[in-house]
Amino acid sequence: MVSSQLSGTLGHDMSDTTTEQPTATGTETVVVIVEDDPNIADLVELYLRRDGFRPFQTANGKRALEVIAERQPKLILLDIGLPGDLDGLDVCRSVRATSNVPIIFLTARDDEVDRVLGLELGADDYVTKPFSPRELMARVKAILRRADGLHEPGAEPAVVDLGAGIVISGTRREATVNGDPVALAMREFDLAMYLAVHRGLALSRRQILDGVWGADWIGDDRTVDVHVRQLRKKLGDGFLLETVWGVGYRLD
Ligand code: CA
Repeated sequence: MVSSQLSGTLGHDMSDTTTEQPTATGTETVVVIVEDDPNIADLVELYLRRDGFRPFQTANGKRALEVIAERQPKLILLDIGLPGDLDGLDVCRSVRATSNVPIIFLTARDDEVDRVLGLELGADDYVTKPFSPRELMARVKAILRRADGLHEPGAEPAVVDLGAGIVISGTRREATVNGDPVALAMREFDLAMYLAVHRGLALSRRQILDGVWGADWIGDDRTVDVHVRQLRKKLGDGFLLETVWGVGYRLD
């Protein structure tokens, strides 16, 4: 949770709510932060900078569209409640008309999450305030990895170490828990690998079905739930697969 850090000493000139502060070097991954709460924006910017990103802040929707067009970011962090004529949903809609750049919504309330999901605006993920900056950075990196991965289809890792003693081996098509092999059915293995490759991302049941069973699979979304139940049983408590309400699943 950021609340304790937000009350800290991050300086901000309140007379200038739209700030753009590029770093000296120009080779880093550009991220645009659209957020009218300067404490949150500054904290997110701090974390992005620390990890080598090149953040630009903007605090209203109209200016956000200009900055996005000008800077061509690799990722947009988008608050929903913004001052002025355009809120975050309007900004998303407008960006999506011309671009597939990944967007992570910064939502303040559950009903905003409902709106993001209900409108199917093409958000790639969302975090709910107050959020942990570390969690946000994990999401940012996961989404950028996936965006990069789209250029290398079929690149399945040989071995994925999920921690807590769980290892998924793509070459041997098996999972081990604390070194002991776990018998997985073909689809269970495919599902485990798919979740491992997309670790940190909230995946819908439809995405999982398309990715594991194939886009032309005709079946019930509950198929995913059944296989998830099996995986959880076989891989145990160390398998940190979260149910994401209204979405599907996310492997942490
Ligand atoms: Ca806001």
